[in-house]
Amino acid sequence: MGEARIHQCLAWGVIAIAVLTFGVLLRVTAPYGRHSRAGWGPTMPTRWAWVLMESPSVVVFVVVYWWGEQRLAAAPLLLLGLWLLHYLNRTLVYPFRIRTDGKRTALLVVALAIAFNVTNAYLNARQLSHFGGYPDDWLFTPQCLVGVALFLVGRHINMRADGMLIRLRERGGGYHLPRGWLFRYVSCPNYLGEAIQWGGFALASWSLAAASFAIFTLANLVPRALAHHRWYRQHFADYPACRRAWLPWLW
Ligand code: NDP
Repeated sequence: MGEARIHQCLAWGVIAIAVLTFGVLLRVTAPYGRHSRAGWGPTMPTRWAWVLMESPSVVVFVVVYWWGEQRLAAAPLLLLGLWLLHYLNRTLVYPFRIRTDGKRTALLVVALAIAFNVTNAYLNARQLSHFGGYPDDWLFTPQCLVGVALFLVGRHINMRADGMLIRLRERGGGYHLPRGWLFRYVSCPNYLGEAIQWGGFALASWSLAAASFAIFTLANLVPRALAHHRWYRQHFADYPACRRAWLPWLW
């Protein structure tokens, strides 16, 4: 089997795993953050878990990208830039902004995330600099322009919402009721932003590889948003009744 076929099968494999993950996560909430609980084996400090989990998305991505013969073409370089904009923050900045002292994450969660991130980094980097064959005028196609705009909007939502949540801890340890901006409408605007961002990336790269990542992101974060929403309603008697979990007015 040639590499193109392996690449395609892997992307379909990610979509199949996303469907499975969605079903499992609707029943079993991933044990990290507020949903951490005993019984998931050895653990490590949460800050370093983030660095370790996310680093393949930088290291593997850059190595695989540089291996491709179209690494200096304009469209792949733009998409590489967007990818690194997100993942340099997620790997090297975000873990040192969160107020997570004393919290721990199960090694099982870390191992699963690393396995996914290695596969995902290979799929998307190889797509951009090798399989994509993007002409220079790709940058001006409607799907690229709209996709990049969605990516930037989603990133802004994700970063601003994460920032607001992180600042809640300035009021003291534990959890507080988030208020204002998109929190008026949904419990987890950071997850909504993340999904818009990767939806935009999939549109801009117009590939099965990036679509599989966008689908996986939804499969991972929608059940988590529902679990957070339930948790808020159980823990805050005054939780706003009109606030939805993830999608304003609907869900
Ligand atoms: P959460 O919203 O659960 O938490 C974000 C941070 O804010 C954590 O440090 C959390 O602390 C803190 N926090 C959250 N709510 C409150 C509150 N009400 N009061 C005080 N502090 C609060 O996000 P995740 O940890 O699940 O995810 C972090 C980022 O990673 C998000 O941007 C998410 O989109 C992204 N992500 C992307 C995935 C993908 O598949 N692409 C998968 C998973 C995450 P604590 O940890 O102590 O709860």
